Amino acid sequence: MIIKIPEYIQSIEPYKPGKPIDELAREYGIQNAIKLASNENPLGPSPLAVQAITLALSNLHRYPDGRGHDLTVKLSSRLGFSPDHFVLGNGSDDLIGMLTRALLQPGDEAIIPTPSFLMYDIDVRSAGAIPVHVPLRSLSICANDLLERVTSRTRMVFICNPNNPTGTVMSRNDFEKFIGALPPGIIVVVDEAYMEFVRDPDCFKSMAYILGNKPVVALRTFSKAYGLAGLRIGYGVMAPELAGILHRIRQPFNVSLLAQAGAVAALEDEAFLNKTVQTVHEGLDYLYVELDRIKVRYFPTQANFFLIDAGQDADMVFENMLKKGVIVRSMSSYGYPEYIRINTGLPEENKRLIQAIKQVL
Ligand SMILES: *Cc1c(COP(=O)(O)O)cnc(C)c1O
Repeated sequence: MIIKIPEYIQSIEPYKPGKPIDELAREYGIQNAIKLASNENPLGPSPLAVQAITLALSNLHRYPDGRGHDLTVKLSSRLGFSPDHFVLGNGSDDLIGMLTRALLQPGDEAIIPTPSFLMYDIDVRSAGAIPVHVPLRSLSICANDLLERVTSRTRMVFICNPNNPTGTVMSRNDFEKFIGALPPGIIVVVDEAYMEFVRDPDCFKSMAYILGNKPVVALRTFSKAYGLAGLRIGYGVMAPELAGILHRIRQPFNVSLLAQAGAVAALEDEAFLNKTVQTVHEGLDYLYVELDRIKVRYFPTQANFFLIDAGQDADMVFENMLKKGVIVRSMSSYGYPEYIRINTGLPEENKRLIQAIKQVL
């Protein structure tokens, strides 16, 4: 190619999303497929969010409020931080991109526990910075291992809690030791996309550290527990200085009018949130029992998804499950060539998953 592409851009591996149900229908002619590959909400979207979005449709000729006033005020009163601590994003993916663009320069290092959410690597590289991958230990992020990789060039550390794709959490104790020993000026980005599902009381919650003397950024999303993945909205909570920097570089209308309306309503729909969390927990407990019964190895989780050790090539298992109309995620591109990741579905979907696993494994 004649165009000169920076080497750090060329080195980026494109994000591989879960397979959409429509694509399966197109390629395999399979109808009634179920998707348990992207950690989505099996109950659908919050009905109150759908209602609010429907009402907002008549305002589509207007630009949205660039600051997301109503949602920010609502989040502010819920979480106990003044509105200047918040930045909204077109999904929390948008916030990861803003953070890396605003805060990293070529040559800076960002520590990424691995495997974890693939967007951290993509966004760090996009900024020309250097991803420093630190392997998990027993599927968990090891705080000491992260500290050992800190250098004078380290500017950012990602902690996905619970970690995608392993479902493990960092304890309050480990995080306290970590943040205490971390040199000042390094931004700790804590991605809490699955925090609503956590049952472990020892799990650390980043909100308790936002006002501390080390820069901690909490990322949350409406894509999972609130059932709004297709709408694209998430937010970050951070020190006002840092939020001000992100507001300078974000797109002026990065969160759509519909997304803002939907998220405000979803936050009020506590019945839906509670039902979602209950459905996920019941699904997990059912799947654990059934997998134990058929002696399939799996790794218990704090999220709405978990890893299964297929004991054979995960890409092949993915293909064979597809043929049964069950979409799972192969973990081969995450460095686990024999693991698949599944998320919990509705009770009948969980049954179908177990049936398919029985046939395929
Ligand atoms: C799903 C997910 C997100 C959410 O991304 P959105 O852009 O808000 O849809 C963020 N982080 C992790 C680890 C996730 O798994």
